[in-house]
Amino acid sequence: MSRAAVIGGGISGIATAYYLQQYGLDVHLYESNSQLGGRIGSECIDGRWLDFGGKNIGRKYRRFREFVADLGEQDFEYFGFNTSQVIRGRVVRLNKEKARLYNLFRVLTLAGPVGILKLIPLIRAVHKDREQGFLNTPYFNAIADRFDHESLASFFPKSCAGHIIRPVTVRMNGAEPEECYPGNFGSNLALVLDSYEQLRCGMQGMLERFQAYVRSVTLFTGHHVQALECRNGKTVLHYTCGAESFQKEYSKVVVALPAVQAAELFRHSAPELSALLGQVQYYPVAVAIARYREEVFTDVQRAMVFDRSSPLSNAGAYGIRDLDIVRYTFSGKTARSMITRESDPDEVVSLGEKIVKPYFNIEKNSRTSFTYKYIWPGLCAYSPHHYRRLEKLDELIKPLKGLSLTGDYRRGASLEACFRAAAEAADLVKGGGLRGCSRIHKELCAGRDPDITV
Ligand SMILES: Cc1cc2nc3c(=O)[nH]c(=O)nc-3n(C[C@H](O)[C@H](O)[C@H](O)COP(=O)(O)OP(=O)(O)OC[C@H]3O[C@@H](n4cnc5c(N)ncnc54)[C@H](O)[C@@H]3O)c2cc1C
Repeated sequence: MSRAAVIGGGISGIATAYYLQQYGLDVHLYESNSQLGGRIGSECIDGRWLDFGGKNIGRKYRRFREFVADLGEQDFEYFGFNTSQVIRGRVVRLNKEKARLYNLFRVLTLAGPVGILKLIPLIRAVHKDREQGFLNTPYFNAIADRFDHESLASFFPKSCAGHIIRPVTVRMNGAEPEECYPGNFGSNLALVLDSYEQLRCGMQGMLERFQAYVRSVTLFTGHHVQALECRNGKTVLHYTCGAESFQKEYSKVVVALPAVQAAELFRHSAPELSALLGQVQYYPVAVAIARYREEVFTDVQRAMVFDRSSPLSNAGAYGIRDLDIVRYTFSGKTARSMITRESDPDEVVSLGEKIVKPYFNIEKNSRTSFTYKYIWPGLCAYSPHHYRRLEKLDELIKPLKGLSLTGDYRRGASLEACFRAAAEAADLVKGGGLRGCSRIHKELCAGRDPDITV
């Protein structure tokens, strides 16, 4: 049986191993931590596994759902879209579940007429063709060519950037609108246009099933890959396990790491590739999950988004029935200036509580337990003209036979986009062409310009 190595045991590595197994390959999956998951990691509080990172699964996550179904029957629970926003001290409710017209009116007012005119063609492009909701697709590459000299903060009018765009970028990219670019915005819009569920057994349950499911995947947890070297059509992995160092040669290798970590592996063997990977932007995010004696939220108000003056970007109920569990997310510029890897977890949670106190039942409630994680690399904000960087990356990697790169910077950071990128990386190393070309991509390949209007 032909053998492949996958580096990174987050969802990108798991997805790659899953596809390579389907191609009949024997897979060695290297993960530096003692367990799989990476940024879909969970922690156990009061006997229940709670997810820190990616947990909301869009109804339109086709590949991810196929994977979950293959692992065996797993229940989903509705997560919904229910949030409010504090704007100049006033709470503005946005709720997809009720009062849809009223909420639509709210969004239109916040975006303003120019904002709406700029948003409509972008939304239409993703709505018409879901493929455009990934990174590196023809419609948004053309947008990048025209507009990536400016950030989303200047592309959209101020109110739209502050109240409509910022909650999206801070949540999905850990970044302010001035740190994100129009050419990558389709990957955000695809998520905004979806509605969400979560796994009843959580990501931990899914990871356990994955480990029971795989037959030709060998897990090497606690194995940290330090460098990669390509020689004579083979890739040599230099890795450590405990205090010992080893090396092993493979003819097929997929690097499934955040770009900033992948850059480290090529620092000496392929400096140009390493520098390019290092240009992809990541921002940290801190997440605290706290449980309270009584319900903090109500059925109709389950989450709140805060503006850029606050280090807390959002706080929400963990699940539709978990109104006593709050997930606090700290991301964006103010969070970065106040919270570091060294911050005291208890102080960070207390800060979150102080911020949400005027809006939810915290004052007379008491916290019974909590868990906290500072996540670095946290969220990917890509780069300006990102697709050109990806093209250059492919050019540099092409001569390195049997080597492929995947991760959240390839097709987007959602779990679905990680699966999409993993499927492509697996296709490449097993020797096939790319799958899943969109209508617009096919039009471009056939020499026609796709319909692009902004
Ligand atoms: C707070 C947060 C909330 C999110 N919410 C959602 C959501 O609700 N829905 C959604 O779709 N997406 C969400 N995302 C995005 C999604 O979770 C991530 O994009 C995705 O999990 C990234 O997976 P990955 O495998 O590419 O990277 P990672 O999860 O970072 O995996 C990389 C793995 O490689 C390992 N590793 C690193 N270096 C080495 C090395 N040298 N050798 C061996 N192993 C190494 C790491 O330990 C890690 O396990 C969220 C992300 C965050 C951070």
